[in-house]
Amino acid sequence: MRLFQRGFAGYEEARVGRVFNQRRPDRYPAAVLLAESAEDVAEGVRMANQRGWTVSVRSGGHSWAAWSVRDDALLIDLEGLDAIAYDEESGIAVAGPAVRGGRELAPFLTERGRAFPGGHCPTVGIGGFLLQGGQGWNSRSKGWACESVVAVDVVTADGSRLHCDATENSDLYWAARGAGPGFPAIVTAFHLQTYEAYPHLFHDTWSFSPDDGEQLLSWMHDLLPKLDRRVEPVIAATRLPNVPLDEGVPHPGTVLLLHTTAMVSSPQEAEDLFRIFDSCPLPVLGHVRGETSLAEESAAQDEQSPEGHRYAVDCTWTDAPADRLAGPLLRLWRELDTEHSFSIWYGWAPNRPLPDMAFSVEGNVYIATYVIYTDPADDEKYRTWVHERTAAIAAEGGVGVYLGDTDFTGRQDRFLSDANYARLEEIRDRRDPQRRFASYLAADPGRLNVHG
Ligand SMILES: Cc1cc2nc3c(=O)[nH]c(=O)nc-3n(C[C@H](O)[C@H](O)[C@H](O)COP(=O)(O)OP(=O)(O)OC[C@H]3O[C@@H](n4cnc5c(N)ncnc54)[C@H](O)[C@@H]3O)c2cc1C
Repeated sequence: MRLFQRGFAGYEEARVGRVFNQRRPDRYPAAVLLAESAEDVAEGVRMANQRGWTVSVRSGGHSWAAWSVRDDALLIDLEGLDAIAYDEESGIAVAGPAVRGGRELAPFLTERGRAFPGGHCPTVGIGGFLLQGGQGWNSRSKGWACESVVAVDVVTADGSRLHCDATENSDLYWAARGAGPGFPAIVTAFHLQTYEAYPHLFHDTWSFSPDDGEQLLSWMHDLLPKLDRRVEPVIAATRLPNVPLDEGVPHPGTVLLLHTTAMVSSPQEAEDLFRIFDSCPLPVLGHVRGETSLAEESAAQDEQSPEGHRYAVDCTWTDAPADRLAGPLLRLWRELDTEHSFSIWYGWAPNRPLPDMAFSVEGNVYIATYVIYTDPADDEKYRTWVHERTAAIAAEGGVGVYLGDTDFTGRQDRFLSDANYARLEEIRDRRDPQRRFASYLAADPGRLNVHG
């Protein structure tokens, strides 16, 4: 392991070099420890105990708000914990927290005919992704990715190493599925139930004008309850040039792209699943349907969310009907003004009670907005804009947020049910009484998990 103390060579790179968002925080850890093994992590926590430091953690560095970078803490960077192993008999993969879901775990499993509902962006680390829930490929069918975590290996606040599952240290196993940065330990390995891979991934992609946005939302909200769980429907308001447009149709600046995907056993199955969209009642600017692959979809995600840019992000779950949602959502979509910025409507439509785990807030539709730009002078403008516009949408039937697309230094909302938040607090009191772990980063910690 290597330790970089503040003020010494290598510190700045270790502090923010692996933070995806170029809008780097003005927060300074006391030191950064690059861990190579679970034992290094345990040693780091014991060192923090001796020196009176809090501990923050980084796996893939993709937290938009850079939760890992905390003032005066020991930042334990887990980049070195990136091994993957697979047991054919049980179908369980054991993966280090820095493993990147799309770039490393997915190809590893594909080679073995297996799959896991990993994140849409290929470079997200499974550490932060799984701890907060994990909205991945085929999630409407396979559930939140954390539902497929069968055990975790952790280092606790006193530097002990534990295995946690449904019977052993089950309180930490419960918390590891949804607590996100409030998890009162450090995960050094995830045990993942994998699934037989589907042989085909199909997409169905339509382009519409924002002028027809109201009709599009109304149509999609009507379809959503009837939509097979294998179909993942997303409307993305995007300004990228590379969208399907019929011959002679000019790009309207912002396109509403209805992009649905389905993992299927045969092309015929995809055709049957997508038939529901054939009755499209509004003017179409372009339409493409066909086979795709996780690699192609991941490349498109990379293009939409490029590295080396500044990001301001917010989200909300909403149960509002289309006519209430349309006003504030279409306003936001029309106001997107950079090439890469985009905003999604994701038809989630929960249809079952969630298992007993910390993760507990979801709604009919997920709205998330990503402002993507390069000029530091725009930070304040775009942060204010994205939080104000999202708050206006949340005011229409909002039920809370998904931790993955939040920045509580800008806007706070509920992310766990009240009961689960209280249960998590009890676990934290027991497992981390001295609050060794840095936990949630919020402008107003007193109003954490408060809705409205
Ligand atoms: C381009 C992009 C696309 C995204 N797409 C998706 C998506 O499709 N679906 C989705 O659900 N989310 C998505 N996200 C959100 C992403 O999942 C979260 O930001 C997640 O927290 C990132 O995990 P990480 O390990 O890369 O981040 P990090 O910044 O390393 O970790 C975030 C925080 O999680 C906690 N943490 C991480 N690892 C551990 C650990 N091993 N033990 C204890 N605590 C830990 C720490 O508090 C840490 O600061 C996306 C983010 C980006 C930037």
